[in-house]
Amino acid sequence: MSNKVVISLGTNIEPRLLYLKNAVQSILDSNITIEDFSSIYETDPIGYEEQDNFLNMILIVKTSLNPYKLLELTQRIEIELERERLVRWGPRTIDLDMLLYNNEYENSDVLTIPHPRINERAFVLIPLYEIKSSLEDNQLSIINFENSLLRDEGVKIWKLKDGEGVLELFES
Ligand code: ADP
Ligand code: MG
Repeated sequence: MSNKVVISLGTNIEPRLLYLKNAVQSILDSNITIEDFSSIYETDPIGYEEQDNFLNMILIVKTSLNPYKLLELTQRIEIELERERLVRWGPRTIDLDMLLYNNEYENSDVLTIPHPRINERAFVLIPLYEIKSSLEDNQLSIINFENSLLRDEGVKIWKLKDGEGVLELFES
């Protein structure tokens, strides 16, 4: 369980909250520990703008899986949740991206870590900032929290984290 991994979740097809919840539940069912999590944010689409708003959140997890096994798992969860890739950066039931894996670097055809757009996306930086105290120093140094994207108004809290467990976020 010793690897600390940051995963971002995004969805913009209803029922958005249920897709998020099911993805989190699948992660929990896979013997992965969720160490911390952000609030749920609603965010304006970027890249391909003719689509509905997203819900986004970040998980910080502990896992014994290596990066490629973890990618297999997150892709299996995407498939189980009926994700179809029709338009790049277009609508999706669920998108699971691996942002950081410890402070390691990986660059292959299927996996780039740190995620190449980590410092370019307000919907990543803003929820990550909320839970930055749970990151290691060697992970914090990869992220640019000086970024003006942190003030992006297209990213707003949708469901505030105020309970203990992640599944409480999905209640009522
Ligand atoms: P995006 O997340 O950029 O909207 P996709 O979810 O469709 O696009 O991902 C496309 C491919 O990105 C995946 O098939 C996966 O192999 C690859 N990929 C590379 N690095 C990562 C990463 N860090 N996390 C998740 N997928 C990644
Ligand atoms: Mg993805």
